Amino acid sequence: MRLGAHVSISESIALAPVRGRSVGCETIQIFSRSPRMLRKTKPIPPEQTKAFQDNMAKGGLVRAVIHANYLINLSSSTKNGLRYSRVAFVEELDRAQVLGIRDVIFHPGAHMGKGEARALKTIAESLDWAFDHAVAPDVAAVLENTAGQGTVVGHSFAQLAEIIKGSSHPERLAVCIDTCHTFAAGYDFRTPDGYEALLRNVGETVGLSRVRAFHLNDSKGELACHADRHEDIGKGKLGKDPFRFLVNDERFRDTPGILEFPGTDGGYRRELKLLRSFVTGPNPPTSPERPRGKRAGRGTA
Ligand SMILES: [Zn+2]
Ligand SMILES: [Zn+2]
Repeated sequence: MRLGAHVSISESIALAPVRGRSVGCETIQIFSRSPRMLRKTKPIPPEQTKAFQDNMAKGGLVRAVIHANYLINLSSSTKNGLRYSRVAFVEELDRAQVLGIRDVIFHPGAHMGKGEARALKTIAESLDWAFDHAVAPDVAAVLENTAGQGTVVGHSFAQLAEIIKGSSHPERLAVCIDTCHTFAAGYDFRTPDGYEALLRNVGETVGLSRVRAFHLNDSKGELACHADRHEDIGKGKLGKDPFRFLVNDERFRDTPGILEFPGTDGGYRRELKLLRSFVTGPNPPTSPERPRGKRAGRGTA
């Protein structure tokens, strides 16, 4: 696993890799714009893109992913809501393409009282609309599984598979597994058997090859609580074992594993160190040490 964290883009996107590097990241997740406003933003200037990519390479970072705006609801039940969400999602894809980032991770949507079946269908249609309107041939839309809070859909991998099946562009869709959401949605993977059962379920629904990233968060809430409340690794109801399984799993050697909590530099440093302390074996699939900078020849995206 390529460990990393969600880092801030305040001041400039170009500085995000520097922030990530300073806390010990091998990968980073960023917002490409303010995450709580839907209005149109200015395009990213070419010199900022170049500085971003240079800083990725200089810091030895192997990949960056984007987390989409929280207000986007691709299954909105209002005409205006759906329109704004789709346009904003196109913008997310376009910005990723400009930055050389291949993954836009997003929350599938909320049905707002209109039912899950309709929402899953609308999300697939919205994604097709977005792919047709974006200029982002290299970017995948990455469905993040949810805790199932409120009317949010995407709380089972079967639901994510249904969205993928409903789209005309399944090859452009991938999946991000958030460990907190998975547990809060009712999947218990705190034991080796539970962990393997979860991966079997993922394999039989969306397919393991579609898993493009993990969000590594512990859960404040109990199993199947359907509450999206992150906690420090090992301090929540998930505990340390699920993270031990993940960082030692050969199947995810090159998959980004992103911390989103507690969001502070000191917290990220501590948590990345803890995750690396779980790594065992002679050829572990996760770097047991903080990566060194200036690795020549590594891609930026
Ligand atoms: Zn998310
Ligand atoms: Zn969450």
